[in-house]
Amino acid sequence: MDVLELYRKTGALLEGHFLLRSGKHSPLFLQTAALLQHPLYAEAVGAALAAPFEDEEIDFVIGPAIGGVVLSFVVARALGARALFAEKAAAGGMTIRPGLEVNPGDRFIAVEDVVTTGASLKKALDAAVRAGGVPVGAAAVIDRSSGAARFGVPFEALARLEAPVYDPPSCPLCKAGVPLKEV
Ligand SMILES: [Zn+2]
Repeated sequence: MDVLELYRKTGALLEGHFLLRSGKHSPLFLQTAALLQHPLYAEAVGAALAAPFEDEEIDFVIGPAIGGVVLSFVVARALGARALFAEKAAAGGMTIRPGLEVNPGDRFIAVEDVVTTGASLKKALDAAVRAGGVPVGAAAVIDRSSGAARFGVPFEALARLEAPVYDPPSCPLCKAGVPLKEV
């Protein structure tokens, strides 16, 4: 699957000059929601992410809200597993949404749309481990971490993207006078 082509086609990959939430600037911005709004594409992405794990016994899939909710659902559907999600909790961590249960020893994978540092995916994975789950793997649609993201379990991505990220003072797009868009 050419997932980047799917991003382009659905307007989920923007090119220009963007102010990221981290405060840094980038010529590229991915808004996976624009892709996942199409159920058939979402389903195809879910099946592709699930593929490396289809020989494993997986009880549930977990993703960090909001980006990981639809994704968890489509991957879980492909694996015949349950779909859970984690949401932000106090002290910067994440906790499993009340009403969603983890049974001790449940095997799971953690999924996320775009991994940049991997922090949210790791927090969702940790929340499931604290609840008694056993992590089998992690998966992202796009890995932007240049290989830096590690989760202590096999990590699969449908595409790896080397997109530069600049500190504002050294941003060549600022220097070139390209208008900055907040995202
Ligand atoms: Zn800039």
